[in-house]
Amino acid sequence: MSTSSIRLFVNVPLAPGLPAPGTEAQAHYLANVMRRGPGDHVLLFNGQDGEWHAAITELTRNKISFTPLTQTRPQTPEPDSWLCFALLKRTKTDLVVEKATELGVACIQPVITLRTQADHVNLERLRAIAIEAAEQCERLTIPEIMAPLTLPALMAKWPENRQLFVADERRTARLLRHTTTPSALLVGPEGGFTDAELVSIDTHPQVSRVSLGAHILRAETAAIAGLALLLATDPPQE
Ligand code: SAH
Repeated sequence: MSTSSIRLFVNVPLAPGLPAPGTEAQAHYLANVMRRGPGDHVLLFNGQDGEWHAAITELTRNKISFTPLTQTRPQTPEPDSWLCFALLKRTKTDLVVEKATELGVACIQPVITLRTQADHVNLERLRAIAIEAAEQCERLTIPEIMAPLTLPALMAKWPENRQLFVADERRTARLLRHTTTPSALLVGPEGGFTDAELVSIDTHPQVSRVSLGAHILRAETAAIAGLALLLATDPPQE
């Protein structure tokens, strides 16, 4: 019986002894790639019930079922920060989703601005990237990946209680810092926001402009560096 560092997200309840079915892709991965079989152990998490040590109880080429045994980590509260970013070309969007997940963002909202270079996105693929990143970085949740919104549509329904930090490379705004209140970082496209976009965003009371440092960062760098500033905090003392 091998205890492995294999850690998988399952979208089913986790409780001791309660059979937890996995996906066909997980059956293939465990059987054919990781050469695991019934009786081998994995770690499971589902975003609500913490992390569980589980045994593989049934494994065929395309079907797998686990039995959770003991809880290894309780579900703990996580930072409530969003990333709103102007959609980038495919590989850069993939990179931003993976890194934002590793950094602990709760929700990823692609935004279409006047200078956005891409206009469609494969949400299923981004969700798979987020799941894989969450499994690897030992998060207990998966960030929500929202369908793209235009900037006006995003701002029209901006939540009252959520601060929005707009990353602006052109003004000497204050450096973005960690906050414990619900927050979001908004990063523009390669060509930046237009003046009209910035003026219209400024009309919202929850909005403040922030700097990410003295250099002009590429959009994907700004998203990643900005989240590192926003989310950097001491780990909960267990
Ligand atoms: N128009 C700019 C480039 C935009 S950079 C130029 O070429 O001069 C893409 C996005 O990254 C910007 O819209 C902004 O949101 C963010 N960004 C880049 N560097 C930044 C910085 N130093 N401070 C704050 N935001 C920054």
